Parts: sequence; C-alpha cells; structure tokens
Amino acid sequence: MSENKTPSTWRSATRQLHAGLERTEFGETSEAVFLTSGFVYDNAEQAAKTFTGEVEHYQYSRFSNPTVAALERRLADLEGAEACVATATGMGAVSSALLSHVKAGERVVASRALFGSCHWIVANLLPRYGVETVFVDGSDLDAWAQALSKPTSAVLLESPSNPMLDVLDIRAISDLAHKAGAIVVVDNVFASPVYQKPLELGADVVVYSCTKHIDGQGRVLGGAVLGTKDWITETLQPFTRNTGNALSPFNAWVMLKGLETLTLRVDAMTRNAATVADYLAQAPGVLSVRYPGRKDHPQYALAQKQMTGGGSLIAFEVAGGQEGAFAFMNALQLIAISNNLGDARSLVTHPATTTHMKIGAEERARLGISDGAIRFSVGLEDSTDLIDDLARGLAALPRS
Ligand SMILES: *Cc1c(COP(=O)(O)O)cnc(C)c1O
Repeated sequence: MSENKTPSTWRSATRQLHAGLERTEFGETSEAVFLTSGFVYDNAEQAAKTFTGEVEHYQYSRFSNPTVAALERRLADLEGAEACVATATGMGAVSSALLSHVKAGERVVASRALFGSCHWIVANLLPRYGVETVFVDGSDLDAWAQALSKPTSAVLLESPSNPMLDVLDIRAISDLAHKAGAIVVVDNVFASPVYQKPLELGADVVVYSCTKHIDGQGRVLGGAVLGTKDWITETLQPFTRNTGNALSPFNAWVMLKGLETLTLRVDAMTRNAATVADYLAQAPGVLSVRYPGRKDHPQYALAQKQMTGGGSLIAFEVAGGQEGAFAFMNALQLIAISNNLGDARSLVTHPATTTHMKIGAEERARLGISDGAIRFSVGLEDSTDLIDDLARGLAALPRS
C-alpha cells in the first residue's frame, strides 16, 4: 500500500476527494474495501512485535482497518483535526467521547437543546455512573458562566441545535469551559464540516453522525470523533477499541464515497433551504420560520460569525398546532415524512410527536418546540417542486 501524500496547498473540495487515500499494488481508482475481520502475520515474531508496537501492522478490525483508517484520515483532514476515530453510529461517537473522558464524581454541563439520544445520555445514563449533569439554556451565556463556576470535566453542546436551530456561541462557551477545566465536545451534525469548524472556535472535540450529510444518501449509519492526537489515542481509543464501537469497513467505504460529493451536496441543499425558507416566511399558514441564514434568526449575527453557510435544515411553525402539522405533512406528495435528516431527499418531521415526544410537554415548551413545529431537512430536489409541495401542504391546513 502506498499513501498518497496530499499537498498542503490543495483546497478543501480537492482534499475531500484525495486526502488519506492509500492504493494497493493494483492501482485501483476508487478506494478498496477491506471487508476482513482479522489480519495475518508473516511469522510469530511479527505478531509479537505488532502487539508491543515495534511493528505497524493491522491486528483486528475492532481496533483498526485499512478502509476505516482511510475514512478517519480524510475526516481529520477535512476538519483540521490531528486525529479521528470512526464509530458504528453517531451515538457511538457521542457516548464514547463522554464515557471515555468522565469519571464518577465528576461533572458534565450540556446545552438543553440536544438530539434526543444525546439528551438521554446526559440526563439518564451519566448520573447512573455517578456523574453529576447540569443542563443550561444554550444561548444564555450567563447560565453557562454560572453552571461552569464549579470544576467540570466536559461540556456537550450542539449548534445549530436540533430541532429549533438555536445558534450557540462556541468560542465564548469554550472559554468559560476551559476555565472550569472542562473539554468542549461539539456535536457538529447540523452545520456539517462544510460550514463550521468548532476546533478553530476553541472546542476540543467534534462529533458527527456520519449517517447524516456525510453519507448523505440515506444508506448507512456511522459516526466520528475528532480531536488532538493525545486525547484520541490516550483517552478515546482505549474505550472504543475495548467496548467494540467499531465502524464496519463497508460502511466506511460508503462514507468515503459520500465525502467525494459532500460540499457539492451541502451547498446545493443550502441554496434550496435559503429559497424555501424565504418562501415559508411569507406563506399563509406559517406562523414563524427559523433558519440560521435568514436575518430574522435570533442569533443571525453569531451564525454569520461562526458559520460559513446557513445549512440544510429549517424549523417552522404552521397554524393549528398538532392538527395543523399533521394535515400539512399528510398532504405532501414529494417531501417524505421521516425523522432522518441530511439526506439527498427532502424530509419533514414533527418533533413533538416523534424525536422529542419522550422529553414531555414541559421540556418541549422550554425548548420552544410547539405542537405546530416542523423540522424540514431540505434535499436536492428542484426548489420550485419543493415550494409547490409546501404550498400543497399549507393549503390543507384546517381553516380557523
Ligand atoms: C442523528 C444525530 C445523532 C445520532 O447519530 P446516529 O448516527 O443516528 O447514531 C447525534 N446528533 C445529532 C445532532 C444527530 O442529528
């Protein structure tokens, strides 16, 4: 195998195609898939030296695999991170980042507006192991300062947040967190690596559900954790390797194919999202629209500062509460109802009865998730067809 050394002058779009590629002696154009669980050694000495670390050799695909390693190199390159570990799912990435770092008796502070399973880990799982957890309103810096006035081990936040697209000040929160001794873990799924670089903003660890924009075509699950070489090799990797949170080489290969078109897709989806958000903002039956790329977003200035694009997700509220939302969604012919996001196909979900059902009405009210709220993951369709479909949905709203 020979590793293609990517010249440091190549730009991001080029690197997404070429970084970290290792060709076998067959000279294949596309990356090979090493669908193997184990590896063989030339002799017993080589096996022994591999285990002591004197020789570099693949050992077992729970530890590492050439296809998975190619994905890890390319993701690290794209993020500007020293190191990356790919995981079986996005939740595998989030849970490993936290569980590998914190110990009983320590403290985690998280923003309240989190992806459902991330919320469960902080609210339910960590306390079971003796970790104190505190939630704060992510856009309230005074609340962060107060929560971080005590020694803290880790901070978890998501920006823009799911589903209401709050934009959090990653730099300011990272400064407060570091003073409290905490590492900052940013779930960067909504912005994607194309539009936001949390490490440049002061965060320590970035996590992805590669299931979303990185695959981007609704095929496979996967995740990634990115950070410094020291933290990844000393803290994260012993945890992921021994607990079995490994990405399948096949899924890694699918993700490598996804990365080839990541910027193209995310840019096109974002252009569609901006067009569609403008339509929704003036459409009858729509009570409000949240899109980080629109001037009426409550944290527009911050979004402009820390993101280079508005992203592919929109939140909006239709009239008529849950009845209105259901009538709207059921009338759609093109846009599908699905709780997935970041797909090439446009998808809508009703958070109050699906992704955010379990947190209860009181917590939803705190997060601003009304019964009429819809999360819209904008895909690659022609924006005129999307607008026609949205108009069809809005025409079905019950008359008040
Ligand atoms: C989907 C998602 C996750 C979880 O990823 P999986 O691949 O489904 O395990 C975590 N955080 C955010 C923001 C997500 O959208």
